[in-house]
Amino acid sequence: MINIKNYINGNLSDPLDHQFIDVWDPSNGKKIARCPNSSSKDLELAIKSAKNAFPHWSCLNQNQRSDYLLSIANEIKTNIEEFADAESRDNGKPLTLSKTLDIPRSIKNLEFFANLAKDYKSESFYQDDVVSRIIKQPLGIVGTISPWNLPLYLFTWKIAPALVTGNCVIAKPSELTPYTAYLLSKVCIKINLPKGVLNILHGEGSLIGREIVKHKYIKAISFTGGTETGKEIAIEASKNLKKINLEMGGKNPVIIFDDCDYNKMMHSLVRSSFLNQGQICLAGSRIYVQEKIYDKFKNDFINKVNALNTGDPFDSKSDQGAIVSLNHLDKISKYVDYAKKDGGVILTGGEIVKIDGDCSNGWYYKPTVIEGLPQNSRVNQDEIFGPVVTITKFYEDEEAIEMANNTQYGLASILWTQNINKAHKLAELVESGLVWVNCWLERDLRTPFGGIKKSGFGKEGGKYALDFFTETKNICTKYYDK
Ligand code: NAD
Repeated sequence: MINIKNYINGNLSDPLDHQFIDVWDPSNGKKIARCPNSSSKDLELAIKSAKNAFPHWSCLNQNQRSDYLLSIANEIKTNIEEFADAESRDNGKPLTLSKTLDIPRSIKNLEFFANLAKDYKSESFYQDDVVSRIIKQPLGIVGTISPWNLPLYLFTWKIAPALVTGNCVIAKPSELTPYTAYLLSKVCIKINLPKGVLNILHGEGSLIGREIVKHKYIKAISFTGGTETGKEIAIEASKNLKKINLEMGGKNPVIIFDDCDYNKMMHSLVRSSFLNQGQICLAGSRIYVQEKIYDKFKNDFINKVNALNTGDPFDSKSDQGAIVSLNHLDKISKYVDYAKKDGGVILTGGEIVKIDGDCSNGWYYKPTVIEGLPQNSRVNQDEIFGPVVTITKFYEDEEAIEMANNTQYGLASILWTQNINKAHKLAELVESGLVWVNCWLERDLRTPFGGIKKSGFGKEGGKYALDFFTETKNICTKYYDK
């Protein structure tokens, strides 16, 4: 049993109220750890230490701050096996995915922002004898709140730009997947990150998450999670006019035109539908296919999906691991039931998978493809966030765009066509913050990232993240002739 601890003022500690949450291994349904269920008392300690740390940390020069991030990245790299194992242990994702995506990307986040910040220069404007110098200053203490689906990946995506711009951070990982953030706190101790610069508080969103959002000394909240939680955070944070950045849910359309590169599309589509058991905010869960290729597509896609191997995340032969929690497994099952009630046809999947042996009590769901659902079915409207996709036939471009835009979400969309002119024209009409043309999950970290409609508020990534975590000041000076 692992005893996960908070990281406050450079030390690992239990919560002051001695309240804990059980942490489960989804692969076998066994308890593996307990993590603090922190309260406002722990937050006060973290705030105190962050306040003490801020004057020194914010006055370090850029290279010094960047070097700390690079040291953290190096240390994760040295221990990549341990981090990958931990990521799969409390999340249920295949170990191969933790090793090739989650942990490498976490390292890259730290390295990327460490380097980017070195070129984050101030600007100057000259007008006659007046010079306006524009500088970027850290906000002070900021809060980051992250979800369970890409635990360390999204945790570092937030803390890196916040720290490197000179802020002190109170970070809350998801209570379902606290393990890698705990390992990261040990790394911070090892590399001698100054005390109080980063504080990691574990616990429930409805308890410590809310306290972080409310706290008067926390100047900004960077949140990734569900839309309903995001709304609540927006309401609470607005009471103190805090800066907020909200990255929320998605119900992303994939539009497949009959002129696409079919093999490339099919290969990518299996990933964009089911990678990480479909528990990726950017996954394409509503698939629209042009009439001419629909029947062939349906047949080929189902064959590909049937070939996916669902099983022990620690077995390299498993393409699909476990679902993060029993509650979430239940939610997925319920949505498939709704699909049946709404007239949907389950082409493949649609059931919980029982794995023999050590994983027999684990939480697994078969990759599922549903056809024939009306667009207003909640299965086509709500984010399921699991291995469930719907397929729908379309005839004309306009019809596809109309269906694609017919949800409250607007995170990402995926277009497959070899007609690049058409792709660009339609990409402008699709309502989402990101449009992938003939690819999926390609990320240049310099680009803005974030949804529109009820998927996002503000942008992360590149200088957009550095802007979020800084205040812009104009120092305007007039020079007189001597
Ligand atoms: P969630 O909203 O339940 O929780 C996210 C985080 O917020 C957790 O750390 C949780 O403890 C905390 N939290 C919960 N209630 C809170 C409150 N009232 N105040 C403050 N904090 C609170 O989401 P989840 O189930 O952990 O993650 C899945 C969701 O995340 C999906 O909707 C998915 O689309 C979304 N997501 C979005 C992106 C993106 O970039 N847009 C990326 C990954 C995941």
